[in-house]
Amino acid sequence: MTPTSADPTIRQLQELFDRVPHTIPVHVFVDPVRSPENTRLADDFMATVTGITPKIVFHRHEGIDDTARRLGIDRTPALAIAPERAHIRYFGLPLGEESRTFIEVALLLGAGKDGLSAQSRKILDRIPGPKRIRVFVSLTCPYCPQQALHALRAAIAAPDRIHTEIIDIQWNQDLAERYGAYSVPQTYADEALIGQGAQAEELFFASLEAGAPQQIFIPESDAEEVRTDLVIVGAGPAGLTAGIYAARSGLTTAIIERGPLGGQVATTPVVENYPGLSRVPGKTLVDIMVAHALEYVPIFPHEEVLAIAAGSPWTVRTTRRRFFTRAVLLATGARYRRLDVPGETRLAGRGVSYCSTCDGPLYQGKRAIVVGGGNSAVTEALHLKHIGVDVTLVHRRDRLRAHDHLVRALEHEAIPVRWNSQVVEILGQEKVTGVVLADTGTNATSQVASDAVFIAVGYDPETTLARQLGLRLDDNGFIAHDGAQRTSLPGIYVAGDVAGGFRQIVTATGAGAAAALTIAQDLTTAMPTEH
Ligand code: NAP
Repeated sequence: MTPTSADPTIRQLQELFDRVPHTIPVHVFVDPVRSPENTRLADDFMATVTGITPKIVFHRHEGIDDTARRLGIDRTPALAIAPERAHIRYFGLPLGEESRTFIEVALLLGAGKDGLSAQSRKILDRIPGPKRIRVFVSLTCPYCPQQALHALRAAIAAPDRIHTEIIDIQWNQDLAERYGAYSVPQTYADEALIGQGAQAEELFFASLEAGAPQQIFIPESDAEEVRTDLVIVGAGPAGLTAGIYAARSGLTTAIIERGPLGGQVATTPVVENYPGLSRVPGKTLVDIMVAHALEYVPIFPHEEVLAIAAGSPWTVRTTRRRFFTRAVLLATGARYRRLDVPGETRLAGRGVSYCSTCDGPLYQGKRAIVVGGGNSAVTEALHLKHIGVDVTLVHRRDRLRAHDHLVRALEHEAIPVRWNSQVVEILGQEKVTGVVLADTGTNATSQVASDAVFIAVGYDPETTLARQLGLRLDDNGFIAHDGAQRTSLPGIYVAGDVAGGFRQIVTATGAGAAAALTIAQDLTTAMPTEH
């Protein structure tokens, strides 16, 4: 499809590229004889991009020619972007979610910038080279662009020391097998695993420096300072809606998010109960919400809140800067629940997955088990079936708790269900080969062969910051509030799944709006704080 400048997103992209001073050469390697379908995809991709901007200049290569060899490219389809300026390779085509990273990296190279925070650049400056970063991604994984961008920016910032390869797992199953990358994103520096999942930017650089995944990052004391009326922690539906309402109420507001924007919704294959949109991919709904929120409020992505200190104003310390704020809204959502059975941790990323949207494509034509009986499990099972995975649902009871509509869809698709069955062990050495099921009535065990296990057994509230602050939690571990989203600590508010309740997108957005209106009311009746 040829892009038209009537589309506002395309127009915006054109304007952005119009402003960059440099052209960006991109070498594309295809093999029309052996892979005509991939070649067609690559040609369509080049035509689409060329229709958006003349600043990206493609050089099309057929087969592994001298340029390919010089650039270290031994397979197709593949891309090398501005090879004179940075060592950046894509193995596979940057379509789907990865089209974002391609556009972003082209804009950075075109502008002669690297887009890194000062904190990250300091760590990068300490890292000796050369280092080869490999980020394994899939085109449907909403977590992947965040991680890929860290590695791409590193390659732009340190062209002599950092080589970055973005490797699509479907196009490069042999590499995925060699590295054991059955879950994405997965990141290696040389041969060491440095990240499983998406990391906040500075944590990525700390992991790159350490050569192993890091959990904690302490920013330098000269971190930037920002003053606001309200800091919202979390950019899921609750946080994004609160941002819109707070800004419209006149509060200077910032939203901070460590993971993918949109929270759980970003990885929901399809949403069918958000009023006004009868059937929409979760990621699309997120994109619409984020674009709307950005009209009102800045979002600080890839940044993690480390601590919140009481005072007037409150201090919110992140991996990158310090915010001084009159109020804080916790919209931190929930973390997926684990089964806690043998094999789950060992085989995480090797067939054990919590995200069918991200990892499902690797199992097309293979067998997978989905564990759980709620809306998530059924939605994931349906998604996997639709993309061609041979899927079986395993549930510990004899009936599902998922909504009727989803249960009927499951029956309609004739997805087999193992009732009254609990997964007690996940089997496999290098990767998942099956599970051991126990019958919940008789305790009898049986083995079921499977290439993957998708775990969808619910979510636990993300209350780390709430616990640090000593907020009152309810009996189920959710943050307690007064009905108007005020927590037990004046100045701290809550909205969304971390507060429990029905845990629907629409209830999260409702609570986000209510929280922002309460905060606006409280702050206008309170004395202004001296910043
Ligand atoms: P959920 O509703 O809490 O369901 C979790 C499922 O996992 C239950 O069936 C539960 O079994 C099972 N389970 C829990 N622990 C287990 C264990 N250790 N071993 C085996 N099975 C276990 O979680 P969810 O499906 O992730 O949904 C979370 C929230 O998001 C819900 O409020 C849901 O309505 C909402 N959601 C809505 C939609 C939608 O409306 N389309 C889509 C996704 C999620 P039991 O049934 O025996 O307890």
